[in-house]
Amino acid sequence: KEKIMKLDQVADDVNVNGGKFTLMELPYDRKDLEPVISRDTLDLHHGKHHQTYIDKLNDLIQGTEYENKSLKQIIVDSRDADASIFNNASQNYNHIIYWQSMTDNYEEPSETMLKKIEEDFDSLDAFKDAFVDAGVKQFGSGWVFLVLEKGKLAWKTYSNADNPVGEDVDILAAFDVWEHSYYLDFKNDRKQHLTRLVNELINYKFIESRLLES
Ligand code: MN
Repeated sequence: KEKIMKLDQVADDVNVNGGKFTLMELPYDRKDLEPVISRDTLDLHHGKHHQTYIDKLNDLIQGTEYENKSLKQIIVDSRDADASIFNNASQNYNHIIYWQSMTDNYEEPSETMLKKIEEDFDSLDAFKDAFVDAGVKQFGSGWVFLVLEKGKLAWKTYSNADNPVGEDVDILAAFDVWEHSYYLDFKNDRKQHLTRLVNELINYKFIESRLLES
């Protein structure tokens, strides 16, 4: 399945249908990330959690200045003005990137991608270790984003719904470290979940396509 969407296009075009956001389709079947992420987890995580952020966002923006804005614009404009709208808009955005940051058809990074990783992290193993370390150190709920910052790859962590939207970085990938993303499959072992994810599910093609556009 070759369904890599252009993130900025998705995030900017998503609110063109009468001011209503809709749930993004997954680029794989819900059972296809097994055994690392189970179908039960994706039924809940995509079908309930992500859907609920969208339903709440649609309710909250109805009849407000946010109603006909793009998702990214809502995030920027609500960041310091309305916590509920910011949280639900950001969670929609974060999950849109997250689903695409994983693949059911794992492949090692291309030569170009690997060269960039080795330039900025010394080795692929160091890149993976830095990801797992960042995710484990994020206290409580949050996200690990892969960004391009001043020309260099970097892992950055954010609490709850927060994200780098509005920062001077290019967003390349996002990984959910809320318990709902791994608890059914790994109980409280976030480290094991992230280690399996970065070795078996990470979508280097998506990341590289984002890198080439940045
Ligand atoms: Mn989530």
